[in-house]
Amino acid sequence: MNSRDYRHSVPTGSNDDKSVVLLIDDDPLNIILLESILTHQGFKTLKASNGKEGRLLAHNEQPDLILLDIMMPGENGMETCKKLMGDPSTSQIPIIFLTAKSETRDELAGLKLGAADYITKPFSPAIVLARVNNHLALKHHRDRLDKLSFLDSLTGISNRRAFDEYLLREWKRSKRDERPLSLIMLDIDNFKLYNDEYGHAAGDECLKLVARCLTDCLLKPYDFVARYGGEEFACVLPETDISGALLVAERLQEAVNHKSIHHAASPIAPHITISIGVVSILPTEKHENMQFIDIADKMLYTAKKEGKNTIRWSTFDEYLNVAVN
Ligand code: GH3
Ligand code: MG
Ligand code: MG
Repeated sequence: MNSRDYRHSVPTGSNDDKSVVLLIDDDPLNIILLESILTHQGFKTLKASNGKEGRLLAHNEQPDLILLDIMMPGENGMETCKKLMGDPSTSQIPIIFLTAKSETRDELAGLKLGAADYITKPFSPAIVLARVNNHLALKHHRDRLDKLSFLDSLTGISNRRAFDEYLLREWKRSKRDERPLSLIMLDIDNFKLYNDEYGHAAGDECLKLVARCLTDCLLKPYDFVARYGGEEFACVLPETDISGALLVAERLQEAVNHKSIHHAASPIAPHITISIGVVSILPTEKHENMQFIDIADKMLYTAKKEGKNTIRWSTFDEYLNVAVN
């Protein structure tokens, strides 16, 4: 995923390359010892002396890994682990129990809760480090795969999956905050002819150029663009009403025109052009998210039917009224 596109995305834990390990233990000596082992190896540490404080830190700071004691006053480590695993904002952070409870049944209980590993005290610093490193490597690998699964492999921008998630999230937010939301669907005109004329590889290059051009046109931090499929792209514009969305649509169209990507076979223009459908809404309970996309698609279809290289738009409610009358 183009995770920067994700509005209010959680912090990544650190703004340098150091992995961040959260230590949750009520024994200050353990904390001091672990901190010295880990910082000596180049890790950054966060510290909490009880489960509740630890969970808050985990939620806010998004560490890469958690070392968790079990026997602590108040909330014990098993409960803390269960709560961390049950919270979507922290469930992806691997947890290693580091505890004096050395019975097999305790270890089994910890692993069954979903902990990544279980180390008993007294511990060997070398073993702690080796296990921390292994789990961090796995975590980083998983994070990379997660990111890739939200990206379109050809153009490098967000893919359909990222679009679906982002739109749904913004839809809910707009409804809750009673703020406008706009959606732009656009499609390259006569792209089949482009492939036929210049070959599929050139078609791929053209898609990359258009994707870059669209990305460059979106100026607000929460504006989002994705490759919706084939030669179709979609932009989600939070906090944007129809007049704002039309300005963006015009900017996109002009920018693609100004790229002057030669398209000798196009009956529309000697270069690549796009058709655009725009829809805006103030979402309420009566509105359907799927219909929002459908209206943008219909507007795009109208733009195609009415000559291409053009923009057609509607608000959600106007569209419904027209459909009813
Ligand atoms: P219209 O103006 O009505 O949109 O016509 P069009 O030719 O652009 O649309 P059509 O749906 O007939 O053809 C889309 C073409 O886009 C056909 C398909 O091969 C091409 N295409 C889709 N994905 C890719 C891709 O990843 N790379 C390349 N090179 N071509 C692609
Ligand atoms: Mg303890
Ligand atoms: Mg097309």
